[in-house]
Amino acid sequence: MMRLSLLGTGTPRPSIERQCTANLVQIGDVNIMVDAGRGAVAQLVNLGHDPVDIDYIFITHHHFDHIGNLGDLIMAAWNNGRDRPVHIFGPDGTADIIDHLFAIYRRDIEFRLLEERVLGSPIPDIRDLLQVTHIVAGDGYQGDGWSVVAGQVEHGHGLGLSHEEWPCFGYRIMAGDKVLTISGDTIDCDGVRALAAGADLLLQCCYLAEAEIDGREKRLLSDVVLASAKQASRIARAAGVGKMVLTHLAPKSDAMLQAALEEACDGFTGEVVLGADLMVIDV
Ligand SMILES: [Zn+2]
Repeated sequence: MMRLSLLGTGTPRPSIERQCTANLVQIGDVNIMVDAGRGAVAQLVNLGHDPVDIDYIFITHHHFDHIGNLGDLIMAAWNNGRDRPVHIFGPDGTADIIDHLFAIYRRDIEFRLLEERVLGSPIPDIRDLLQVTHIVAGDGYQGDGWSVVAGQVEHGHGLGLSHEEWPCFGYRIMAGDKVLTISGDTIDCDGVRALAAGADLLLQCCYLAEAEIDGREKRLLSDVVLASAKQASRIARAAGVGKMVLTHLAPKSDAMLQAALEEACDGFTGEVVLGADLMVIDV
């Protein structure tokens, strides 16, 4: 069984109700984070978890609302006693980001190493515990009784970016006979449809309801950058998923949230849920 905890269901715009993108996937006693946007550490603690227990971190892409809390997550885990490896997977450039975070925290890291040495309980260097692996679409990771496959998705490439310049992934997570797909940030595309094919649960980004698209900018966003609720419905239908949870929701009125839900349900026979921060869903 897998358990998905939504730590952040919002957008880059700071919000009390919805933190930036971060998700916890638990498979047995293995703890996997998928993205670590603003609020990730506080929300983990809100649900009774400890950053020290995070074993794997999968990054979908490098927008700041997906990685803004990465440094805090790593340092909080170490500060709480993490002495085993933490495996980080992400697009090309992820190792560079980690190196920069270590540069930012260099004095803090050296302070803690010294402090624990003086106290007589030396700790491993966090810089040695992090194991960063760059992935490309189609790559997988095989855990003990579970696996993850990365797939390429379309998130702003229509603005004129190649997939080499701007790598963006969704992830298909499998454990036993269950499949959980995390779309990442994407519009409706072959990549997300393939990742979600037959999934028990699809966590699908959905920024706007079609009903709130009232101009060129929002139209472009929905066509090129982030799926609308109508697109989410198309993805769910094409992929034949059992259940879909919407996330990455732009701030909107209750009426527009309802419109998003109705659009996403339209023509899709499975269950659709509007995601909310701290929602926990068993797969
Ligand atoms: Zn993004």
